[in-house]
Amino acid sequence: MNLRRVTTVLLLAVSATGLIGGIAVRISGEPTWAGWIWVISSAPVLLAVVVGIGRTVLRREAGIDLIALLSIGGAMALGEYLTGAVIGLMLASGRSLEDFAEERARREMSALLGRAPRTANRYDGVEIVQVPLHNIRPGDRLLVRAGEAVPTDGVVSSTTAVLDESALTGEPLPVRRNSGEGARSGAVNAAMPFDMIATTAAADSTFAGIVRLVEAAHRSKAPAARLADRYALLFVPLSLTVAAAAWIVAGDPVRGLAVLVVATPCPLILAVPVAIVAGLSRCAKRGVLIKGGGVLEKLAQAQTLFFDKTGTLTGGRARLVAIEPGTTLAATELLRLAASLDQVSQHVIAQAIVSAARERGLTLSLPSNVEEQPGAGVTGIVDDRRVAVGSYSFVSLIANSDDWSQQFLRRMDYDGATSVFVAIDGAVAGALLLVDEIRLETPRALRLLRKAGVKRIVMLTGDRRDVAETIGAMLGVDQVLADQRPQDKLAAIKAEHPSGSTIMVGDGVNDAPALAAADVGVAMGERGAAASSEAAGMVLLVDRLDRLAEALRIACRSRAIAIESVIGGMGLSVVAMGFAAFGYLPPLAGAVLQEAIDVAVILNALRALHVHGPREGRPALAPAAFDALKTEHQELRPILERVRATADRLTIIPAKEVAAELADLNELLQKHLIPHEDQDDAKVYPVVEQLIGGDDPMAAMSRAHREIRHLSRLLQRMGSDLRQEGPDSKMLAEILRILHGLDAILRLHFAQEDEIYHSLAEAA
Ligand code: ADP
Ligand code: MG
Repeated sequence: MNLRRVTTVLLLAVSATGLIGGIAVRISGEPTWAGWIWVISSAPVLLAVVVGIGRTVLRREAGIDLIALLSIGGAMALGEYLTGAVIGLMLASGRSLEDFAEERARREMSALLGRAPRTANRYDGVEIVQVPLHNIRPGDRLLVRAGEAVPTDGVVSSTTAVLDESALTGEPLPVRRNSGEGARSGAVNAAMPFDMIATTAAADSTFAGIVRLVEAAHRSKAPAARLADRYALLFVPLSLTVAAAAWIVAGDPVRGLAVLVVATPCPLILAVPVAIVAGLSRCAKRGVLIKGGGVLEKLAQAQTLFFDKTGTLTGGRARLVAIEPGTTLAATELLRLAASLDQVSQHVIAQAIVSAARERGLTLSLPSNVEEQPGAGVTGIVDDRRVAVGSYSFVSLIANSDDWSQQFLRRMDYDGATSVFVAIDGAVAGALLLVDEIRLETPRALRLLRKAGVKRIVMLTGDRRDVAETIGAMLGVDQVLADQRPQDKLAAIKAEHPSGSTIMVGDGVNDAPALAAADVGVAMGERGAAASSEAAGMVLLVDRLDRLAEALRIACRSRAIAIESVIGGMGLSVVAMGFAAFGYLPPLAGAVLQEAIDVAVILNALRALHVHGPREGRPALAPAAFDALKTEHQELRPILERVRATADRLTIIPAKEVAAELADLNELLQKHLIPHEDQDDAKVYPVVEQLIGGDDPMAAMSRAHREIRHLSRLLQRMGSDLRQEGPDSKMLAEILRILHGLDAILRLHFAQEDEIYHSLAEAA
């Protein structure tokens, strides 16, 4: 227990007993004694107020408690001892209310700090020793016992670990991490003990970053809170003037006292910080860490949003889809050299290239003389050859770009695929094609953000223009800026002057300057937290973009509640002052009323703790069920591909073979796809409908099932109607039309279902 809490409790006890005791003595007919009891019991409060004022004056802030001092002192001087005692009790209880509200508002953030691990169990030879956190080095083998928090970031090295990450992400369900997968510091071991290999020192771990963020949030004072202080200062002279005027006009000092008693800047000084800290706490609970009230307020005023593409709008789990060797080199050797070099890079694309090489069983060499230009590429020596890997603009600067790369760029029409060029010994030797799919929740998150008041969404990317524009068009962003180096991203943000604030969301080291330049920088997910949390004002610990929309909504609500509390509270205070000035509110009643206003205002501010995300607290799709649905769709992917491939093939194969080709496809459709859609209608949609709520919410989706069945049936009939020699040109055109139609509907329908399921899987 700290000193402040002890004095608060003591003050409350003394002033309460004094007030009640005094009343009892008064009733038993000893008014003089009662007066003394009231004076003595309110003296400690008076003293505390004086000390408080002294402190603020020492800090060179003006003391707002002046009104409290004058009203309690005035009551004593005018012989209104009972009023003085009531004010004393009100001030003391106001103090405890303030403490309670602060503590309640911070609870979730403090809970996060409470989980901080302090020691780790390290294997030293055969022994396990307990070591302080700062002694952990990358490479140490650690034991995490059941119920313990993971001490630093690392890789699970023994059996499967089951981790409760709820403190970090707000996701209530434990997650499994197999041997070789990452474990984040701060997660709690929810099952059997497991071993892990530390990959960072504890001070560099995710959790240490979080702790630093939370501590910064505790220290910072929101601009609105500072502004409130200033307004409160204006309020002091105003109430003194009104009190003096009332005294003079009425010729009665008690009139002036009555005004002072109800004049309280409490809504200003307390309501604002309480509402804002409550908002911070709420966000922390949802896995969104915000550095302080100032950032929360800026977030609430968001107007322009900048997004990095790779790893932020897209999932950051890129897949290698094609290797295009230029002239001489074999495809696998091209990949091997590129992957060897990219081992040193943290970039998502680099990691995808390395894992693609590992999957193909290639032996990578250790690169030397490595230099990385963030967001552009890497150069270095691999097996005595000078290798460069990166974007076209980066590689073509160092290497001779021949006709081949020009042709390749023209030929490349993969939707939204990223190309990485590889140069060897000064000549472009080939390219790798990677797809990085848009996150399932991205379209929904952008919609929610717009709904929450964001006016303009801009995509910033280091990728090439055509790729960037394809993705930008799919997402419906307002502007696409491609070929952006880190300094260009920064310039783009600086050039923006909205009336509200600018937000930048990014995930990589190359985004750090831009994150720092924006009014609010948002680091995305685990990778973002590690790479750029220093530059960022907030971190999304859950790798889901829709949490940003949720945080924005919480920020807006908290700010609105703060403003509302101030206007409501101050309005009531001023009205009460008016009544008091004209003699309709005696000091004693005023003191009680004033306390009622304070309580109402603070309770209202605490409402910010109950702002909910769009789906929070509602039933959710179980993660296992969501995974099952996703897997099912993935298993059907080849059939979707087959529809398009069949359409392509029908135009080139001899007419005689069309019937057989179509029959194959029809069989696949009838055996796998149609039963899947029937199953959706019968089993999945009813569950989904319950989760969404409302009257028949899946009607439109169900309509697509009928269309799919209809087209498949048409296709089947056409297949069986075909004569031996195949279709004539009219018939073929008709078949192709249906195949293309089916292909388009299936793709859209699958994407829509994935999006719906994913949004429902958002944990409650
Ligand atoms: P974004 O801004 O969309 O996140 P980046 O600026 O991080 O994209 O990267 C832009 C492009 O630079 C990538 O598409 C990739 O072609 C190339 N690139 C950057 N770093 C590397 C690397 N380490 N290895 C290979 N390619 C890289
Ligand atoms: Mg990126």
